[in-house]
Amino acid sequence: MKKLLKDIEREAIGQIREANQDKELETLKRTYLGRKGKISKLLKSIGRLPPGERAAVGLMANEVKQNITRQFQLKSLPLRKKTSSKLNQKIDISLPGILPDIGRLHPLTQITDEIAAIFLRLGFRLVEGPEVETEYYNFQALNMPINHPSRETFHTFYTTDNFLLRSQTSTVQIRIMQKQRPPVAVIAPGKVFRPDATDASHSFMFHQIEGLLVDKDVTFSDLKGSLTTFCRQMFGGETRMRFRPHYFPFTEPSVEIDISCMICGGKGCRVCSQKGWLEILGAGMVNPAVFEAVGYNPEEVTGFAFGMGIERIAMLKYGIDDIRMFFENDMRFLEQF
Ligand SMILES: [Zn+2]
Repeated sequence: MKKLLKDIEREAIGQIREANQDKELETLKRTYLGRKGKISKLLKSIGRLPPGERAAVGLMANEVKQNITRQFQLKSLPLRKKTSSKLNQKIDISLPGILPDIGRLHPLTQITDEIAAIFLRLGFRLVEGPEVETEYYNFQALNMPINHPSRETFHTFYTTDNFLLRSQTSTVQIRIMQKQRPPVAVIAPGKVFRPDATDASHSFMFHQIEGLLVDKDVTFSDLKGSLTTFCRQMFGGETRMRFRPHYFPFTEPSVEIDISCMICGGKGCRVCSQKGWLEILGAGMVNPAVFEAVGYNPEEVTGFAFGMGIERIAMLKYGIDDIRMFFENDMRFLEQF
């Protein structure tokens, strides 16, 4: 009897493992565990055994039944998964999937890259410098001695004595000229800091990109040519330019450069305050005093420098009227770029 039970168990487990359809499993279940199944029949015959053997055989019969039941459970789980794949056919595969959120470049980074690409094509090299500077690099070396009134507009955040957050990226120009003999052709993008109260057009931190070209016989025509090329590539070939005399301590002569408003084409609109012109750049021929500060001979070399605010360019290009939008990390704003 015990041998018979073991045979049934072995046979059942073998067949269950080989079954690969729900129907087949159902039949097997009936064959072994059903009311008229092999196990039931066997249990019924226990009564005919001698009383001393009944308990042991009964116990074994139950174990065999449990083992077979467990095999059914193990088998039916993966089988059900297999059959349920039929359900997949009802899924509309033409529905658009869920796109993962992928990052993108901040609009200011995009504009910086765009500006840099133009100057790199003109032969400039991209350089960077520290955001925490010494007073020397931020002022003295740029021809703004202690107590010079022009420091007023550049006053910035001091960390400790003589150390401050740079108020313009011109500091990088000084560091480059100290390290490198002419010719020099570099652009330096980066953050600058001024203790301005924040409003729609001011921020205590903003971004600038500055450029410097030093060589023998660099003239104001080179300045005009380079910056005209830049403005036309950045704002379109139709862009007209206007150079107005200005004062910067580190350049002489100095200019402010306006471009014709790309919104109204110069007729006057809200963006250009009805003027038809937009101020875009500050520039000038490097002041000989700056060359002397870095050990260049102003009798041998000349050069020009320029600087522009990246936020301003981005605001004009995209028609954004509040500088704070760039720094609030509002996804509804950032996702538009
Ligand atoms: Zn306009």
